[in-house]
Amino acid sequence: MVVEETPDKGFIRRIQEKKIHDLPKGDVLIKVHYSSLNYKDALSAVGNKGVTRRYPHTPGIDAAGTVEESQAPDFKPGDEVLVTGYDLGMNTAGGFGQYIRVPPEWVVPLPDDLSLKTCMVYGTAGFTAGLSLNKLMEAGVAPEAGEILVTGASGGVGSMAVALLAHCGYSVVAVSGKPQAVEMLNALGAQRVLGREAVTDTTGKPLLIQRWAACVDTVGGDVLSYALRSTHSHGVVTCCGNVASAELNITVYPFILRGVTLIGIDSATTEMPLRRKIWNNFAGPWRLPNLDLFSSTIELTELDAHIEKILAGGQVGRRVVHLP
Ligand code: NDP
Repeated sequence: MVVEETPDKGFIRRIQEKKIHDLPKGDVLIKVHYSSLNYKDALSAVGNKGVTRRYPHTPGIDAAGTVEESQAPDFKPGDEVLVTGYDLGMNTAGGFGQYIRVPPEWVVPLPDDLSLKTCMVYGTAGFTAGLSLNKLMEAGVAPEAGEILVTGASGGVGSMAVALLAHCGYSVVAVSGKPQAVEMLNALGAQRVLGREAVTDTTGKPLLIQRWAACVDTVGGDVLSYALRSTHSHGVVTCCGNVASAELNITVYPFILRGVTLIGIDSATTEMPLRRKIWNNFAGPWRLPNLDLFSSTIELTELDAHIEKILAGGQVGRRVVHLP
């Protein structure tokens, strides 16, 4: 899929044939078998210059496939690999094309026992949820500590966070604006599902009743502010997204009177050792038995409608994109 900037129609998307030599320079050429749809891909696909500066461009921050050519000693033709984040799909042609060419430093060998397709069910969304879970564990948040709030729970990162936390024994309270997603979230292991109004505070109080041992926030704005003000003393809140808002109105009191910790998550720049650890966890202790409950596979030709849906906040779970 190529996104072009036109003088009269703004940004248009179409499926187009391109030559391999059009791809950027890089030591590893990969035949992409699967990609996935993330919120950032949709932003790139509609011309958001905070994500992609130059068009024409092929989005797709995730890709899984086989090495076709490699000048790098660590990879040889036929190796199964995945790439997520770095600059892929931002200003480097991404996984919504049949081939990508990238530096070897971006390439992760496919973990044992995970298929290319399964890796893309996780994709950046799962990887981000995994990084958030890892931060909670590093901060010492144990399953006995209490309930963990997950916001934007029906979305890609949110649904992955619910499933991973529940799988690891945590009591998860999911927040979702979609009544139709409640059944799925319960099936993924949420103890309770709250509507967004339950996390909308209109009192403006700097501190609220302490409810959560930790929060995995994927939406930002007032919801993140609520999460910080209602987390237990010495609890932890992770922050990765801004679909609600990039603004954060908060006093310092949750930090200085309760010792709450706010942890930022940036999956794209995650260093390779931690990256490999998270992916290996998906093949090991964090292997989810229920991926079919909240994922489906679409063809490249079906992407357009899903891009509109994710931008409208309507995505439920994960969409894997099959490349022909
Ligand atoms: P999705 O669109 O799949 O999920 C977002 C979910 O947030 C929606 O499904 C919806 O869930 C909820 N939501 C949407 N709009 C609002 C709103 N106005 N107020 C409150 N909740 C809302 O996106 P992703 O899961 O892919 O990404 C989530 C966020 O995380 C994005 O901002 C994305 O850019 C960011 N992100 C950041 C990463 C990082 O490394 N920092 C990596 C991956 C994603 P529901 O209806 O259930 O409430």
